[in-house]
Amino acid sequence: MSDALKTVGDLEASGLAPAHSGLDAVAKKYAIGITPAVLDLIDRSDPTDPMARQFVPTRAELVTTPDERVDPIGDLAHSPVTGIVHRYPDRVLLKAVHVCPVYCRFCFRREMVGPQGLGTLTGDELDAAIAYIAAHTEIWEVILTGGDPLVLSPRRLRDLMERLAEIEHVRIVRFHTRVPVVEPERIDAAMVDALKASGKTTYLAVHANHPRELTPAARAGFDLLLAGGIALISQTVLLRGVNDSVETLAELMRGFVENRIRPYYLHHPDLAPGTGHFRVSIAEGQALVAALRGRISGLCQPTYVLDIPGGYGKADIGATSIVGSDGCFTVRDWQGGEHAYPPKAPD
Ligand code: SF4
Repeated sequence: MSDALKTVGDLEASGLAPAHSGLDAVAKKYAIGITPAVLDLIDRSDPTDPMARQFVPTRAELVTTPDERVDPIGDLAHSPVTGIVHRYPDRVLLKAVHVCPVYCRFCFRREMVGPQGLGTLTGDELDAAIAYIAAHTEIWEVILTGGDPLVLSPRRLRDLMERLAEIEHVRIVRFHTRVPVVEPERIDAAMVDALKASGKTTYLAVHANHPRELTPAARAGFDLLLAGGIALISQTVLLRGVNDSVETLAELMRGFVENRIRPYYLHHPDLAPGTGHFRVSIAEGQALVAALRGRISGLCQPTYVLDIPGGYGKADIGATSIVGSDGCFTVRDWQGGEHAYPPKAPD
C-alpha cells in the first residue's frame, strides 16, 4: 500500500492524469488508491482502457443525479451496533475496517471508505460487534467486508477469527475482498492461516470485473487460498465501459471457473453518488445475462442481482426463462425458441 498512488499529484506525476488535471475537487470527495499491481495493468495507450476506467478518477464523478444516494444499499438503516449490518436473519456483515488497497471509482460505499471514511473499529466497538454476534444465535454466517478486510495484518485477522471461533452458532465465515487481484503479494502463508483461524467453513469472494485482472500473481494467490482449504466464489459489478459486453463477461466467468472460483454475483451497479457514467440499464443487464446463458457452461453463470435501494436486500433480476403461463407455461430456450410445458396433471 505504501507504493500506491493516492493523490492527484501522484496521478499527474505518473502520467495517469495530465498536469493541472482539475481532479482536486474529485479527490476532496472520494479517496484515490492505485496499487503497483493495478498500475501494471493499465494500458496508457488506450483512452478507453477498462482498468484505468475502474481506478483513475475523472471529473464525471462530480455529477450527482437526483436518484443517487450517500448510502445506496441502506447499510445504516440495518446497523444495530457500529460495524454490524444485520439485514437478513441468518447473517451479518462485520465491517471492521473502511480502508481499501485501491479505491474503485464506482464504489457503492464510497462515502464510507477511505482516509475520510468511517475508519477502523476501536477496541470497544469491535468488542460490542462481537458481543452482538454472540448474543444472536440466529446468525449462521459472518461476512467480513468493509472496506477490504484483507488490509488488516495477519495477526489482527487471526485475533478476530479466534474470537469468532468461540461463537458456536456461527458456522460460516466469508470474506469479500479485492486484495488477491489488486495487491496479490499480501496473500501468503501467514494470511491464509489467519483467514482460516476461526476453524469455521471459510469462503472468500474475489471481486474482479475484467478478465485482465486474473493475472499470474493473482492466480498464485488463488492457489494458496484453495490449498489452505478456503472456498472461492466471485463477485463482479456490471460496469459500462468495463465489462458490458458478452465477450468480456464470458471470458471473465470462464477465467473464474478455470481458477476454481465459482461465479456467484453479478451486481447491477448501485446508485452511488457520481457513478452515473458506469451504469447500464436493467434491460441491458438482462440481455447480457441471457446471452451468457446461451454461450457458456452452467458452471460459469453468475446470479445477476440488484441491491434494492434503501436497504431492502438483494433481488435476482436475471431475465426469466418462463415467458408466458396461459394454461401451459411457455419456456424460452438458450437460442430464443419458445416451447410449451404442460401444467401438472391432477393427482
Ligand atoms: S475495494 Fe470494494 S469497498 Fe473498496 S473501493 Fe473498491 S468496491 Fe469499494
